[in-house]
Amino acid sequence: AERWGRPEETVTTVCPFCGVGCVMDLGVLDGHIVTIRGKRGETPNRGQLCVKGRFGLDFVESRERLKTPLIRKGGELVPATWEEALSVVVERFSRAKGDRFALLSSAKCTNEENYLAQKLARLVMETNNVDHCARLCHASTVAALATAFGSGAMTNSIEELADAGCILIIGSNTTEQHPVIALRIKEAKRRGAKIIVANPRWIELCKFADVWLRQTPGTDVPLVLALCKVILEEGLLDEEFIGERCEGFEEFRESLAGVTLEEAAAITGVEVGLIEEAARIYASNGPSSIVYSMGITQHSHGTENILALADLAMMTGNLGKPSSGINPLRGQNNVQGACDMGALPNVLPGYQAVTNDDLRRKFEARWDRELPKRPGLTLMEIFNAIHAGGVDVLYIIGENPQISDPDSTHVVEALEKVDFLVVQEIFLSETAMHADVVLPAASFAEKDGTFTNTERRVQRVRRAVPPPGEARPDWRIISEIGRRMGYPDQFSYSHPSEIMEEIASLTPSYGGISYERIAGAGLQWPCPGPDHPGTRYLHKDGFTRGKGLFTPLSYRPSAELPDGDYPFILTTGRVLCHFHTGTMTRKVAGLNYLRGEELVEINPGDGEVLGIGDGDLVEVSSRRGKVRAKARLTEKSSPGVVFMTFHFAETPTNVLTNPALDPVAKIPELKVCAVSLSKAVGD
Ligand code: SF4
Repeated sequence: AERWGRPEETVTTVCPFCGVGCVMDLGVLDGHIVTIRGKRGETPNRGQLCVKGRFGLDFVESRERLKTPLIRKGGELVPATWEEALSVVVERFSRAKGDRFALLSSAKCTNEENYLAQKLARLVMETNNVDHCARLCHASTVAALATAFGSGAMTNSIEELADAGCILIIGSNTTEQHPVIALRIKEAKRRGAKIIVANPRWIELCKFADVWLRQTPGTDVPLVLALCKVILEEGLLDEEFIGERCEGFEEFRESLAGVTLEEAAAITGVEVGLIEEAARIYASNGPSSIVYSMGITQHSHGTENILALADLAMMTGNLGKPSSGINPLRGQNNVQGACDMGALPNVLPGYQAVTNDDLRRKFEARWDRELPKRPGLTLMEIFNAIHAGGVDVLYIIGENPQISDPDSTHVVEALEKVDFLVVQEIFLSETAMHADVVLPAASFAEKDGTFTNTERRVQRVRRAVPPPGEARPDWRIISEIGRRMGYPDQFSYSHPSEIMEEIASLTPSYGGISYERIAGAGLQWPCPGPDHPGTRYLHKDGFTRGKGLFTPLSYRPSAELPDGDYPFILTTGRVLCHFHTGTMTRKVAGLNYLRGEELVEINPGDGEVLGIGDGDLVEVSSRRGKVRAKARLTEKSSPGVVFMTFHFAETPTNVLTNPALDPVAKIPELKVCAVSLSKAVGD
């Protein structure tokens, strides 16, 4: 980049990829980003960036960026003016008010944009059919932690991890998905912390682990209950904390009577001795922190997985104090914020239930109109409703469900079937190719706003360069649609700071957030008033719901297990140098150089039995579809388990995955499905 000269301006903003929320300085010259540096000394990253943040922003100036609106004419998407495109959108939306309309908002967009998206759905379109990709990653976190504690977010802060006495990393490949948080874990190790890794697949943090529990995918509940059983039997629990701060413990204690370590070992594949060792380390080296991610959440029993972790933390008193807690690592840069802003079908901003008359009336008074009170459809239910003829207009902002959602053949059929599809995007994604109207949006570097990172920190996003062509920030596009649909007063904003003022006035946990106050390191919610300093860790003097609630649990197997026809477990995940469906990182030559194609990770023993060598083309089949990719033989995968990513649209892994849902959180089981493998014949 330096070939263009020294930057004439430095703009401080936030990385657009994962939920760590690294603060970065963009050097700008003549309207181009010419340098990228982590902002020195700033929390949470102290100047550090991973390969995506440091070298992965070339997508901003990609030639493939959308520069004008597109309208489908004669079967083709052709360039159109904003006037033409918005006229078509408004005319069609006006005929679809109510529950025949659905909106998918975006964890890539700012808080202000997510706020406006759900406001458009509820106020203008008169429906709660609004959801976003949190349904695929941490819906079970929100449901379970709200049940156990009263609020569903990371309890502690990233910085605190370095001072933990023990860290249990379960279902998180932190080095690859949240690299800067992995640095804090390694720092803790250097300071003497004990590290427990529980993961079916070998991950880099295993090198730092005192114990590695290699459970069979989908067996986290029996594994965690077995840890609880050891702690109970060996008297390692914190009876004072349980007695003063919690309820439901006796029922939970009784439920552990049926747990035996031998049975847990048989189900999980983890030796009894390792279970005992991990339990003793976790209970005896506090403050102990639990770090988890989608290896825990994306199951048909994801909510139960997290309730089990809550039981474990409560029985050892590892909540409400620094460097402890339960810490879900949110995947996308603003998935926490999109949830906070109410881009969910059952809650208004700040998790205020649409069914609560008092809370709903507060929004009705401010927005000057009655709002729908029946919860809307979740993401997967929206696609099912399109198939069933219940939803016929879909507005997708910054999401690519064709690649990200399970059983993607079903999703593609819905995208083709829906009567009217609007996609608002920065690239012509695989999903956008099905649209009737495509609206070109600005990227993170081309707009102002805020993101909320995984530790609840509301951070300023600042415009560094102009959007390409006629692309516009999402908040401007949504506002324009709202105004044209008859709500000029409710969608009249000249700057995102005005939207944040409205958010703060309606959302208690954001009550003290303003652009002035977050100009530096940001503020962590809850921040209820203008003088409140923000909250580093939750539940200090009491849980949000009052007392922490123990939940008795039992093992429920995954919805689809290996059998004679499909003898392997497929588990999916991500790699360091790409992000999500690759919409952005696949546009970056350097990242494609590091990893340019899908690889199916297979245990060498399985490869030998199947006659599959490293680099051979293999066909992976499930009950829902098949894909081909090269084999990578590696001990990272245990026998009987294969691993794939979903970064590569040319190898759409999610045609294989199972859409079975967690009954509470409606999150699909992306982490376990049954597949068969064979050496592919031909090309
Ligand atoms: Fe930081 Fe995540 Fe961006 Fe990497 S991808 S620089 S860890 S925010």
